[in-house]
Amino acid sequence: MKTLVMTGPMVGGQIALTYQIDNYPGFSGGTGPDLVGIMKKQAEEFGAEFLEHSATKVDLSERPFRVHAGGEEYTGRTMIIATGSLNRKLGLESEERLMGRGVFVCATCDALLYEGKKVVVIGGGDSAVQEALDLANFASEVFVVHRRGRLTACRCLVDRAKKNDRIKYVWNTEVQEILGESRVEGVRLRDKASGEEWTLECDGVLLAIGWDPNTSLFRGQLELDERGYIISENEVETGVEGVYVAGDLNDRRYRQVVTACSSGCKAALEAERYLAEHGDGGS
Ligand code: NAP
Repeated sequence: MKTLVMTGPMVGGQIALTYQIDNYPGFSGGTGPDLVGIMKKQAEEFGAEFLEHSATKVDLSERPFRVHAGGEEYTGRTMIIATGSLNRKLGLESEERLMGRGVFVCATCDALLYEGKKVVVIGGGDSAVQEALDLANFASEVFVVHRRGRLTACRCLVDRAKKNDRIKYVWNTEVQEILGESRVEGVRLRDKASGEEWTLECDGVLLAIGWDPNTSLFRGQLELDERGYIISENEVETGVEGVYVAGDLNDRRYRQVVTACSSGCKAALEAERYLAEHGDGGS
């Protein structure tokens, strides 16, 4: 097969933003970008070409399928959609206004800016704990503000976080507002049990409240569910023959690098089978 991997400007997606990968088989203690580099090199050795442009328009109504990116049009007889997910937001006006001015979504990208500073991480799952750990290498204090009374992150992350005395927890608490005019100065919090409101001063707020599927490009062309996930059968098959879905896009639950690779493999095998059944190899 002749394979084009359209990556957008950052090859590797969320893996490339992960400081340390603990749970990918055969890969121990390296960084996300290290793992991305190994995967890319291996794919290139098998002939895959990489294009660091974002797809801006897709047409699945006729064959070959068409994708616009970087001012060019590309065609493919099969397509694997692995566009991943986008950070969920709280929906506050202050969050939009202060985005990039103290509100941020990626510790690996921005932690250096918070050296010696106080940062609030919102959320209580794997992302929140992973991001808190990454931030704690730089920030003086990291407050994990969670609306429940316990973390839902995996044991290995929770154990590492518990040993880190820069990380503190604010339980059963919701964020009412992010404070500051031109930069983050604090958060207004509300204790869910007592209703009491109080202010925690901080220099940054990292949102780690989950992810939504990045599928707007396919709206109207593929069937999406109410949360925006592409509806698939046999795990990877979309409603259009020859178009497959892989990675976070068809994983509402596990979202690990290893599970993404698993569905990527299944999608690739289906694409290969489709091309074999429909003629002359193709691109
Ligand atoms: P998640 O598991 O869905 O957790 C989201 C967290 O944010 C939960 O604590 C949730 O609280 C909270 N939350 C959601 N909406 C909120 C809101 N409006 N206000 C306040 N809090 C809110 O998302 P995630 O942590 O990003 O993880 C997503 C997936 O990626 C998981 O399957 C995870 O295993 C995987 N992941 C794995 C790793 C790793 O293995 N190292 C790292 C990162 C992510 P509630 O529980 O109350 O809803």
